[in-house]
Amino acid sequence: MSIDADSANAAPLALDADEFRRAGHALVDRIAAALAARPQGPVTPSEAPDVVRAALGAEQGLPAQGRPANELLDRAAELLMTHSLFNGHPRFFGYITSSPAPIGMLGDMLAAAVNANVGSWLLAPMATEIEAQTVRWVAELIGYDPRCGGLLVSGGNMANLVPFWAARRHAATWDIRVEGVAAAGAPRLRVYASVETHTWIQKAADLAGLGTDAVRFIPTDAAFRMNVATLRRTLDEDRARGDVPMMVVATAGTVSTGAVDPLAEIAALCRERKIWFHVDGAYGAFAVCVPGTPDDLRAIREADSVAIDPHKWLYAPLEAGCVLVRDVERLRAAFAYHPPYYHFGTEALNYVDLGPQNSRGLRALKVWLGLQHAGREGYVQMISTNIALSQQLHREVLAHAELQPLTQSLSITTFRYVPADLRAGIGTESVEKHLDALNRELLVRIQASGEAFVSNAVLGGIYALRACIVNFHTTPRDITMLPEIVARIGRGIDRELRAK
Ligand SMILES: *Cc1c(COP(=O)(O)O)cnc(C)c1O
Repeated sequence: MSIDADSANAAPLALDADEFRRAGHALVDRIAAALAARPQGPVTPSEAPDVVRAALGAEQGLPAQGRPANELLDRAAELLMTHSLFNGHPRFFGYITSSPAPIGMLGDMLAAAVNANVGSWLLAPMATEIEAQTVRWVAELIGYDPRCGGLLVSGGNMANLVPFWAARRHAATWDIRVEGVAAAGAPRLRVYASVETHTWIQKAADLAGLGTDAVRFIPTDAAFRMNVATLRRTLDEDRARGDVPMMVVATAGTVSTGAVDPLAEIAALCRERKIWFHVDGAYGAFAVCVPGTPDDLRAIREADSVAIDPHKWLYAPLEAGCVLVRDVERLRAAFAYHPPYYHFGTEALNYVDLGPQNSRGLRALKVWLGLQHAGREGYVQMISTNIALSQQLHREVLAHAELQPLTQSLSITTFRYVPADLRAGIGTESVEKHLDALNRELLVRIQASGEAFVSNAVLGGIYALRACIVNFHTTPRDITMLPEIVARIGRGIDRELRAK
């Protein structure tokens, strides 16, 4: 095959500057219109999988020939803007998924245009420095030592896994990276976390070769906070047996209820026993910058490592998680290899040495832009508004004759629907059975309604609805609408269940 001199411009993926501009402007116009119209539309069209697959034409094979970029972008925008659940809708209160910051959307586009490979400084000089500054700013925002190290990862799971691997390396007195966890004569490594810990802990113990049996799940008190007396006793028993405690995990804002473990007490215990103290603050750590939040959040500064999710309370578009470690050398000790085919030098920061990834994109850019667009004061305002809205919801649930409030912490409120005539029967077996079936069905129907979106929690055996507000579009009016939406749908299900 002969290659013509102009081959670069004729490349099937090339767009000249004018075409790029036209396609880009048209796409931005579409996105702007969709964002502006969002509050008037449903949270989700709630379509069945076969409807979505049919809209896509899921059965079609790979096209042999190319098509114009503007047509493709038009269709992609149409498909996604019509057949998606919008976590940026003002009444999306599910899980812990935030509304996306518009500046972050544009930041991702810029990051893709530069396409910096933030594995090494050589390949990404400015991008590396932007990421380092972002890590320092995140630390500063939550009162963590700004001389710390860290890096951006895909989300909370990875932000917990990275310190987990580093703690594994740090705790082993043998060369665990070479000999593995099952080296001859090696003691059993153990990890401690409350029963309310997010399921990353199982994945971490499994993937690090410890096995999930290595995790000591510590019970919680009535407020779903780790019981420190049991933690202390379990640590002592394991040490007496010859096991090696590798890490204690405390959660700052649990996924179910937003509970904050007794971090100060756990920090003191870890200091005394010389055990790695890790805080899973994926959701709640940012709340430390807001006055009036639980005092224990202030003890995050004592952690050896912190997992924190900019794609939650910094409202960065997915994906953006962040690892902070007091001593960055502990990451290097766990992850760095120096193969002969890399010549990156050691005088500058090479992120490839600090984590499991090799090639890395500039996830930090959207976070860095958001931190400057809102500033510290802007974030304090948005996070405190989310918490105040959650407290408003708790009050309105409390005042509603057919709703039972269960918990309120940070920006998570849990509650359930209880028909007025069954209120007196709460706790009796037959009534609880009815309420369980009713609220399970209620969750599904609220989600399908498109009017609002909540998720669920199971609290001491009670099936609860759970509203988590990590959303800068939500207004007091959206909150006021929720109890009545829930009660209206709940009443209908109650009638159906009783007619059975
Ligand atoms: C969200 C969350 C995680 C998981 O984070 P992803 O970003 O979904 O990977 C882990 N722990 C806590 C406490 C969380 O809130």
